[in-house]
Amino acid sequence: MDEISEQSNYNKEIEELFNEDVDIIPEEMQTSVINEMKTPNINIPIFREKVLEYIKKITNSIECTIEQKKIILLKSEKILNKHISRARRSEITISKHANPLTHATVIIYATSKSNKKMPNITIEKMSELMGISKSVISATYKKWYENFTHRLNYSFKDAKLGRSRKILSLYFFELFNNAKIDLQRLIKHLEKIDISKITLCLSEIFVDAEKRLTQKENHLVEQLMEREIKKYKDMGENYSDTFIKYFNDLANIIKLLVISNKSHKIIGANFSVTDFVRFFMSKGINIFLTEGSLFNVIRDIFSFFRDTKYSDLFPAQIKSKKKLIREVRTDNELVTVVGSRIKLYILKHIYNGRYLDDNRGIAICPDCKNEGLTLNISSPRIRAKEFHHEDSKLEGYSADDLFELFVSDRGNPYFLVDLIKKIEDESVVLKCGCHHRIIEAIHFTNFKKIISWENIPFPYKDIFDLPAEIIHILIRVCVNSLPSPLLKPLAKGKPRVREFDLEERRKFVKAFVIYFLKKRYIIDSIYGGVCATCGEFNTKDHLPSFEFNHLYEILKLTPEEKEGYIRIRKKANKIIQDFSCSEAVIELEAQIGGYVCRNCHRVIHKKISKVNEIFDDPNIIRKILADKENTIRIYKQSLIRNTVLIKDPLKVEIRKHKALMNYLITLFEISEKTQDGVTRVELANEMGRATFNNISDIGRFFGRRKYILEKYVRIVAGKTQTSPIRYYMTDEGRRIVRLIYYFRDYYRNRTNIL
Ligand SMILES: [Zn+2]
Ligand SMILES: [Zn+2]
Repeated sequence: MDEISEQSNYNKEIEELFNEDVDIIPEEMQTSVINEMKTPNINIPIFREKVLEYIKKITNSIECTIEQKKIILLKSEKILNKHISRARRSEITISKHANPLTHATVIIYATSKSNKKMPNITIEKMSELMGISKSVISATYKKWYENFTHRLNYSFKDAKLGRSRKILSLYFFELFNNAKIDLQRLIKHLEKIDISKITLCLSEIFVDAEKRLTQKENHLVEQLMEREIKKYKDMGENYSDTFIKYFNDLANIIKLLVISNKSHKIIGANFSVTDFVRFFMSKGINIFLTEGSLFNVIRDIFSFFRDTKYSDLFPAQIKSKKKLIREVRTDNELVTVVGSRIKLYILKHIYNGRYLDDNRGIAICPDCKNEGLTLNISSPRIRAKEFHHEDSKLEGYSADDLFELFVSDRGNPYFLVDLIKKIEDESVVLKCGCHHRIIEAIHFTNFKKIISWENIPFPYKDIFDLPAEIIHILIRVCVNSLPSPLLKPLAKGKPRVREFDLEERRKFVKAFVIYFLKKRYIIDSIYGGVCATCGEFNTKDHLPSFEFNHLYEILKLTPEEKEGYIRIRKKANKIIQDFSCSEAVIELEAQIGGYVCRNCHRVIHKKISKVNEIFDDPNIIRKILADKENTIRIYKQSLIRNTVLIKDPLKVEIRKHKALMNYLITLFEISEKTQDGVTRVELANEMGRATFNNISDIGRFFGRRKYILEKYVRIVAGKTQTSPIRYYMTDEGRRIVRLIYYFRDYYRNRTNIL
């Protein structure tokens, strides 16, 4: 605002003041201020003398220390002299009606306003002391003295710094902005900049006329209006605390804006001024404005930058609260894009880029890398990247979760670095979907030795080379030998198991081991033990990460068709649990689908419509599209069909594996001491159950299991009718018992989970 309009504003204020007080003291107003304004010509030196005289008298009557009185006198004289010299320069006219007493009173009042060390002299006190109306004091003060006495608090309202604030913002922006370096380095770079030094430098620019300006500083001053420079000079000279806070705050806001811009551009999110303002208000950064005014100021600064060459660095802005809420609740595509971009950024930067493969420009699963996988680390496969917590109770970090976290902290310019720090503090590690799944499958990990038939020093290539009865015996031995605390499912397991007693728990775990064996047998038979699509994950090491995908899920179907598929849909793991292998594959074939590893499964279902917005590198985008196309093509060629060849390696004719195991072991133990074979009586005695019935039971038991036992036990009839039948262990029989002992000892000695 210019001088003339300020003046007319002032006159308006005076008028209002008069209107307000018109009923109280109309006459007094008439004679003092109004006349004073209208009628010229006064003897200036006499007026000065009179005022000074009154000042001395009044000061004497004010209750304060001698020191304070001295200051009042000194300051008052200064103010009076300024007033007089303005009149001498004809800048103002002192009316001959001007009342020296009123002026003296007002000047003393003015001294107290400009100095913190003064006694508290209010208009009320002066009015009471001197018998002059409050309105007259106030009006006289405003009319003649306010402009060149200093208030305690700088008046931003009068200073009107809005326009200059934008220019200063641009000046700061150019000091702080660095488009070339990445976010973390930018933050470090800005941390090193001492804002108080910048403020000090600005105070020199405005206050110190002698200061030699740099080119940038010169440019800044040139853009400011003379009036604005004056205002800042005044602020710097007389309100240095205000000056410091004002410029520190403004510089900090622009610094935070630079950081915030960069983070928002990285994650492709819209900028919410409301949240941004709330963030630095909470830090006490406010350039002396209320939250509402700051909101307007920041919004203006934002639009101002839109017209500069930096407009590309500014993210899109959400204009209203309503739009913000709508965006969060309904814009699923935006959630996917922003969430995925946050995830990508974290994957690359967490633990100083531990997972980033520089050559490929993507984050990769360290387990995949260690195992020498290639396809699974050549494309980002971002949906198949997971954050693993030791403590599963902590929140997850899926793309959707990450978007939620962003929304709850979107005003914070350090959101991304804070989030990375939080995740690092939780010791979260990156795993691909497959490797993550394996960590969680504790029964598989516990019993991998038997399920995957891993390094077994016996001449059986696979567990399926053994009769079903022996397989069940081995499962039983393994599960029963494992120290019971290790059987307890960890936090990740099914909690309902905890309520069961040990026997129930073992039964449950045995069922798991059987499930895994059947699943492996089926996938080995159909797919040769590897993921059909990537060919990299195998059943031996990664069995839990194999997942069944229904074909209909990726077909374009009418709702009715889809409904039809959903009606017959069954879960593959349920099918395997409920049926024998040969029955299960027929069921699986009817479901129309096939097994793939979890990573490929995620790729099959990945939506690619937004891939251009999530990834910036066209090479990587090409890879993602090719990966998806290949994976789906191979998947479609690998559906489960022609399943007639699948057998039932776990199907037994007679149960009671415990009895069979006990007979075999007892027979083995006795045979170790004798060459002559074992009689039924000896066997029954050894087992502590030598009754007539039991002895004939033994005969029946062996007779009914001839099909399996003849491999392990040779039965020799007595030479005479009275001489007993003798049982001899074959070499294979001895080997099987040693195999049982091998697993028993292996699991007994487990003290921790690998
Ligand atoms: Zn992996
Ligand atoms: Zn795969």
